[in-house]
Amino acid sequence: NKFERHNLSSIVDEACKLISLDTTHEYNVNVVNLCEEDHYVFGDEQTLVQVFINLLSNARDASPEDSDVLIESLQKGNNHLITVTDQGSGISADKQEKIFEPFFTTKEPGKGTGLGLALVYSIIEEHQGSISVKSPVDLSNNSGTQFLISLPQA
Ligand code: ADP
Ligand code: MG
Repeated sequence: NKFERHNLSSIVDEACKLISLDTTHEYNVNVVNLCEEDHYVFGDEQTLVQVFINLLSNARDASPEDSDVLIESLQKGNNHLITVTDQGSGISADKQEKIFEPFFTTKEPGKGTGLGLALVYSIIEEHQGSISVKSPVDLSNNSGTQFLISLPQA
């Protein structure tokens, strides 16, 4: 793995492109990349792309057809705070404690390995960052999930 300076918005675009090539899903969500053009992070490109692929594939699995998934970035001190927000089913408080554990899945056998978020967690750790989850996002109907990632700016 080669650690280099990468444009955050380009990383997100690459993940969006790859996930749209996955034709094993007949339904889709609208992924909207709202990351600031001048936000850069330090890391391995393919590994960082993998983070967003995993988050987007979970968002798609949990979301109604044609709903939006927003990816935004903002600057917070020396870090970039990146949020991935969906309008899906949400994650209950007791499950939120377990989702980053390897092999935790609520999906049918064969549909989920439970490794996606465990991998995301270790990748973010390797990049000196942190990740957390907030759900529901929409209190009025108890739905939606937001993942918040903090990465040192480059
Ligand atoms: P997998 O996708 O193989 O189940 P993950 O580690 O990617 O494994 O996710 C673990 C679990 O976290 C999922 O099975 C699901 O219950 C929950 N989850 C993750 N992301 C979301 C999301 N955006 N909305 C609702 N539930 C989610
Ligand atoms: Mg997953």
